[in-house]
Amino acid sequence: MGILEDPAWRAAIRRRLEIDLLLGVGYVPLKLTPAGGSGPSPATRWRQDRPSAVPAASGTASARPAPPARSGVRPEMVQAVTAEELQERMQALKALDENRVRVCRSCKLWETRTRTVFGQGHAAARLVFVGEGPGYEEDQQGLAFVGKAGQLLTRMIEAMGLSRDEVFICNVVKCRPPDNRTPAPDEIAACWPYLDEQLRIIRPEVIVALGKPAAQTLLRTQESIGRMRGHWFEYYTSGSPNVGPPTPLMPTYHPAYLLRSPAEKAKAWSDLKQVMARLGLPVPR
Ligand code: SF4
Repeated sequence: MGILEDPAWRAAIRRRLEIDLLLGVGYVPLKLTPAGGSGPSPATRWRQDRPSAVPAASGTASARPAPPARSGVRPEMVQAVTAEELQERMQALKALDENRVRVCRSCKLWETRTRTVFGQGHAAARLVFVGEGPGYEEDQQGLAFVGKAGQLLTRMIEAMGLSRDEVFICNVVKCRPPDNRTPAPDEIAACWPYLDEQLRIIRPEVIVALGKPAAQTLLRTQESIGRMRGHWFEYYTSGSPNVGPPTPLMPTYHPAYLLRSPAEKAKAWSDLKQVMARLGLPVPR
């Protein structure tokens, strides 16, 4: 049976093309073999390019690499910490949320919020996404990135070969700014310690700052997102005694901006591929 007759291959290829389309990636690998036919077989070439994205074209079920999980946590995709360390981090995040964030009235955003939105994900995530602030859906549900922009972020995460359960997602401010306006400087300053504490607890290997407010806050700069995106920066936690080495930080466009400006999706995908390379994840060509 040829590759394209195999339902598993067809489903995997369709999913990959759909993700590429969503992200604005125009490249489609029509040619699977090198000219001259002296290289590896088509199936091998494809498998090498995308080792975890598609099953092998032939062989027993047990020999086939599994497609990337869309939910759940694979141990190799999060930090290798002991069960005790993971428990400590989970408890620290829970305490920060319940004892400080949920009761916070440090800026005027508490007056109009329905719920605080602490963020969610794995306490030992290798990758943390930081956005701007909760929108309507997030304010209603108390969860970060669950509206339309959140759905696009989910597709971006899945395109990286990860699931939402394997990363951590949060925002600079934990309460929704009215009418989804950009958080004011005093609101960011008031909420900033919570984000800093989250990052000190999780200690990710890479941070992705989604949009200008997140990037400017984390990097303490006024530079535009257009100039920052696609370049590596370093994030330094502000507190002690847990100040460690800086964390690599990649600014990119916010998913809400990408929904308004689809032509920019390819740039965001290019940024995420740099993140994948930094994390040692397979990077589609
Ligand atoms: S946005 Fe942050 S600082 Fe302001 S009230 Fe909410 S939790 Fe507190």
